[in-house]
Amino acid sequence: MKVLKFGGTSVGSAERMKAVADLINDGSPKIVVLSAMSGTTNQLVQIAETLYQNANQEANALIDALHDKYKQVVEALYLTDDKKKQALELISHHFDHIRSFTLDLFTIYEERAVLAQGELLSTALFQFFLEEQGIPSVLLPALNFMKIDENEEPDTAYISKNLKLELEKHPDATLFITQGYICRNAFGEVDNLKRGGSDYSASLIGAAADASEIQIWTDIDGMHNNDPRIVKNTFPIAELSFDEAAELAYFGAKILHPSSVQPAKQKNIPVRLLNTMQPQAQGTTISAQTGKGGIKAVAAKDGITAIKIKSGRMLLAYGFLRSVFEVFERYKTPIDMITTSEVAVSLTIDNPKFLAEITRELQEYGQVEVDQDQTIICIVGDFIADRSGSGLKIFKALRDIPLRMISYGGSKNNISLLINTTDKERSLVLLNEGIFERNNSNA
Ligand code: ADP
Ligand code: ASP
Ligand code: MG
Repeated sequence: MKVLKFGGTSVGSAERMKAVADLINDGSPKIVVLSAMSGTTNQLVQIAETLYQNANQEANALIDALHDKYKQVVEALYLTDDKKKQALELISHHFDHIRSFTLDLFTIYEERAVLAQGELLSTALFQFFLEEQGIPSVLLPALNFMKIDENEEPDTAYISKNLKLELEKHPDATLFITQGYICRNAFGEVDNLKRGGSDYSASLIGAAADASEIQIWTDIDGMHNNDPRIVKNTFPIAELSFDEAAELAYFGAKILHPSSVQPAKQKNIPVRLLNTMQPQAQGTTISAQTGKGGIKAVAAKDGITAIKIKSGRMLLAYGFLRSVFEVFERYKTPIDMITTSEVAVSLTIDNPKFLAEITRELQEYGQVEVDQDQTIICIVGDFIADRSGSGLKIFKALRDIPLRMISYGGSKNNISLLINTTDKERSLVLLNEGIFERNNSNA
């Protein structure tokens, strides 16, 4: 069994959906995970924002506009009037549900229900298309098996058990379609795996089904060596280890949801990143194999807050760091980077929700300084006993950029730097020129 996930652009129009149907129609057993059609989740977020503000007229206009878009998709996707009628009824049902939220109090629960509609729509429309084409398939409701616990972590035992139960209901089926992104939470409510979460769904489903391979089909030919939205002349990387890919995903490479490598890694299932627009391209294979040493790729993660605790008194006394970490633990706030000196410890967080409380508690241990609008630049590769001068190349490339923190040696795959977000684009371009182009010309 393979798991194939198609992202928003890959199912973003009737044409794209038809192309996906061609790609998956080879008879081999698979679970196909779909995102919402591109733009839909953003539009649902916008609808939710207007509903929070009780701007019902505006919300209704946005809902009508999105409904119209789907009517056009239906018109372009199906051949027969019967299927068009069936699909129009289906989308009306979903949009009536969204409209019903204009009539009552709007809270986070209703918001999550609204956000779930994108994946429910794309999968149902796609499955109708397969039906019309005479391709047998089964629609698996992700809300029957995908679940997060009270810490918002996937409940993998529940997912495995319930996915198997769902699959067993259809012993003869070989092609299953299901929704990415959506799940239930510990209270049984509709919830989601956060933006970009369909990759995570695919990896969790792959792990739960003991898949032989997880394919993430998107709009680019694999993981590139740098952010292609910012830097010109980036290129795809043929092979990455699970750890390298996990670092890149966590530190900002948008092609993969930050947590999506872990479930595949735990079950040692290779993940391939492939391009729906260019299905023959090699893409990227992520597996337990580590390729050649040296620098492979760079990614950047914005929205970072740096916190420095200065204490002449007891900084490196044992127990001090534990007390500091406990403050973050109490507020369930993960730390990304950490550096220490004799007189201070600096660390970074990406979730500032409890910043005020954390700062107040840390002041018990020393003087606290907070810097917001920071960016972590993460340089990934195989740096074990690195003698190729990677550090020198990185620092030479960034000689004019003020570096706020440097972390080297935490893992053999990662060198992280903290900079002001205003320096991000320049840093990524400088790194591309300083690290990769020289590598290429030397090759
Ligand atoms: P999907 O809708 O298929 O999930 P995403 O937009 O989430 O697609 O992810 C693909 C996009 O990620 C690419 O179009 C690209 O702009 C962006 N991206 C950012 N960093 C990288 C990178 N290092 N390699 C490849 N793509 C990247
Ligand atoms: N549709 C969701 C989003 O836009 C999930 C995904 O596409 O992965 O974030
Ligand atoms: Mg994505």
